[in-house]
Amino acid sequence: MSNSILAINAGSSSIKFQAFATGPEALLRRVSGLLEGIGNAPRLVIRDGAGKILRDDKLTQAAAPSVEAGEAIIGDWLLSAEAKDVIGGPVSAIGHRVVHGGPDFSTAARIDDSVLARIEALTPLAPLHQPKNLAPILAWRQRQPAMPQVACFDTAFHRGHSELADRFAIPDALYREGVRRYGFHGISYAFIAEKLNEVAPAIAKGRVIVAHLGNGCSLCAMKDGRSVDSTMSFTALDGIPMGTRPGAIDPGIVLYLMREKGMDAAAIETFLYHQCGLKGLSGISNDVRVLEASDAAQARLALDHFVYRIAKEIGALAAVLGGIDALVFTAGIGENGADIRARIARACAWLGVNLDPVANAARETDFSATAGGPRLLMVPTDEEWMIARYTRQVLSL
Ligand code: AMP
Repeated sequence: MSNSILAINAGSSSIKFQAFATGPEALLRRVSGLLEGIGNAPRLVIRDGAGKILRDDKLTQAAAPSVEAGEAIIGDWLLSAEAKDVIGGPVSAIGHRVVHGGPDFSTAARIDDSVLARIEALTPLAPLHQPKNLAPILAWRQRQPAMPQVACFDTAFHRGHSELADRFAIPDALYREGVRRYGFHGISYAFIAEKLNEVAPAIAKGRVIVAHLGNGCSLCAMKDGRSVDSTMSFTALDGIPMGTRPGAIDPGIVLYLMREKGMDAAAIETFLYHQCGLKGLSGISNDVRVLEASDAAQARLALDHFVYRIAKEIGALAAVLGGIDALVFTAGIGENGADIRARIARACAWLGVNLDPVANAARETDFSATAGGPRLLMVPTDEEWMIARYTRQVLSL
């Protein structure tokens, strides 16, 4: 009999989940679900493996005011007869996305008391995200104490960085206590590294820059399918601009905000995580689609700056790699934003990439105009599949 693995990806205002049956080799998707708008206008959509909608429930704000409450709603459904029926039996193991694995977790880990304590101890490094990831782990431990659970870390894929890439130019003592460039979105990058073996085997072992452009945005430089550097670093604030985060800024700005505006750590945290990026710069929206539809000069400036900064950082990572064999786009904007993809690709023409606008608009995997030279690729990411794959590996299912 096959096992069923549940993958849970809990974010700040959404929970994604997928359940897979373990085939002899492949993972077979049985269910996928998304609870979004938690605390605002929650909506739960659940589909079966063929994409047929099983549920589309608009919930009241009071029904799902927090990730914990949202987790309980999803947990109840997963234990229902309907869920068992579509999944093909009870869930036999659960894998979770955990944003921070610190310096030590270089691979996914089965959760026991000691691993849980170590994950909890890393909360100061990701105070907004780690508690959201812990919520479903703790809930399932209470609900079904014997259920095997696995933590899959966003930082783990980057743990092979050289010390050179891992350091900030700050005193050694801070590095020793964990102030280093971790890198995030690692589950997504690990999925892309796997997928390249299938969709572009000729370059899977080459020099690849992956642009994960979603709500959070980062770039990863890969060589031989491994991360060698990335734009996010100590926290998920660094690097390129995002929907509501600024990416790298002069740390002097933080000092200015403290001295001149009297802002404390909590106010600066809210500012940097929620009021900057495309939203702050445009004053209109964090959503690329809204900005593209707007005639406002500030909307145009925000998108121009977004493209400029991404192209600039691609240049920096290309320097680290000594040239590129492929530039890969993924996540919400990277997969659906054909115009942003085209603009970034054109800004990187000096690297030898050559855009085919028709293939780009048609969402083809390889949208390069020329047969030779570095490739332009669009590869949809699937973090839940990767979480299930890690879980299967760790538990030998
Ligand atoms: P993710 O975090 O990967 O779910 O990506 C979410 C982001 O994808 C949102 O912030 C949207 O701005 C962006 N997005 C979704 N669809 C499109 C589209 N058609 N064009 C541009 N951006 C999009």
